[in-house]
Amino acid sequence: MKIRPVRGTHDLYGDEIKKFNLIKNIVSQNAELQSFNELQTPIFELSELFSKPLGDQSDVVLKEMYTFKDQGDDLLTLRPEYTTPMIRAAITKNLLNEIPLKVYGFGPMFRRERPQKGRYRQFNQINFEIFGSNDVMSDIEIIVIADDILKSILPGCEIILNLNTLGERDNLKKYKTILSKYFNDNKNKLSEESRNKIESNPLRILDSKNENDIEISNIAPPIQDYISNKSKIQFEELKQGLKFNNIDFVINHKLVRGLDYYSQTVFEFKTKNLGSQDTLLGGGRYDGLINILGGPDIPGVGWAAGIERIAMLMEFKKNTNSKVHIAINNKKFVTHLQTLFKYLKNNQISFYWNYKYNFKKSLSKANQDKVKYIIMMGEKEFESKSYTLRNLYSGNQNEIKLDEIKNYLNDQS
Ligand code: AMP
Repeated sequence: MKIRPVRGTHDLYGDEIKKFNLIKNIVSQNAELQSFNELQTPIFELSELFSKPLGDQSDVVLKEMYTFKDQGDDLLTLRPEYTTPMIRAAITKNLLNEIPLKVYGFGPMFRRERPQKGRYRQFNQINFEIFGSNDVMSDIEIIVIADDILKSILPGCEIILNLNTLGERDNLKKYKTILSKYFNDNKNKLSEESRNKIESNPLRILDSKNENDIEISNIAPPIQDYISNKSKIQFEELKQGLKFNNIDFVINHKLVRGLDYYSQTVFEFKTKNLGSQDTLLGGGRYDGLINILGGPDIPGVGWAAGIERIAMLMEFKKNTNSKVHIAINNKKFVTHLQTLFKYLKNNQISFYWNYKYNFKKSLSKANQDKVKYIIMMGEKEFESKSYTLRNLYSGNQNEIKLDEIKNYLNDQS
């Protein structure tokens, strides 16, 4: 048997995992600052949790979920997105007794999509949600925190916020009927994929990338005509709030988002630097969803961002873990070596040794890793209970006592 990874999955190692951890740290710092609490949910849930709100017709439910029966005949699904599990947890843990509830999390999601650059079958998301407020300030807050996070992880990267409003649910329902009729009348000109969505999910045809679909969509009845005054005013307030926070945006009336449950505000942060998978972060308002899932009839707003896509854009200073390397030329001195290990650990100085009793080999590895210092010990150092510290950048070296090492490294670095 030839072992191989599952298609669309990837292992994280070295710089990649360091980038992930850095992203997580920046996310947590921003979250703590604005009192979002971390909420971690299991990677699988009962399948009905997803099929109910996503709608049986949505792309994700139809084609992309990893669903299986376990040995007890429970139908389970690996989570394809984080909003519904977060809501499930908030309901079952009684966290909605006190609203607004602000939560965030990270973790793997699973979708059986066609893999390509920036698109995987297991990928990681960052997720922020506010449950229980329809104040436009909560829309502003959730977009501002997204912007803060992206700007601090990717300073200088060209990212543009696309913004739209879908209006209230009732109006949206009316608009969907009108859109279905329009697309039906122009059925012959649409791609097959879009034709299949005419009844079930006509909004999705608006963001099709097929040229014929785009042509038909461009002259479709515009969503703005079906939006109430109340929604228009809220959208204006949202735009003012974003301007106040120096966030640039473009209005994109064709932005509808993939999942079925959005209404009112929808947004995506996009970049030109990632090819066709150009959305880094997307979200919006989902005012009926918590109720559909069996919770109270309270609103919600949130977003999800792909960690892999953010990591692909990150500038990362290559840095080896260890501050010092160690070289020893004879097994006879291992006690001296272990005394050094203890000292370095106690003083939080990271180190590396390659199990070679050979100065030349250890020096060559240290040079290859571009570390500045190597601590060497041979007969002479063993006898005098000392260590030789060599600066590999300058070539200077000094023989010093164990308890002087920390200060020496601090002074020199
Ligand atoms: P969505 O839940 O589809 O709105 O996706 C939110 C974000 O997750 C996207 O903007 C991407 O950054 C990321 N994402 C979604 N699907 C994938 C995937 N298959 N592979 C990698 N990242 C993804």
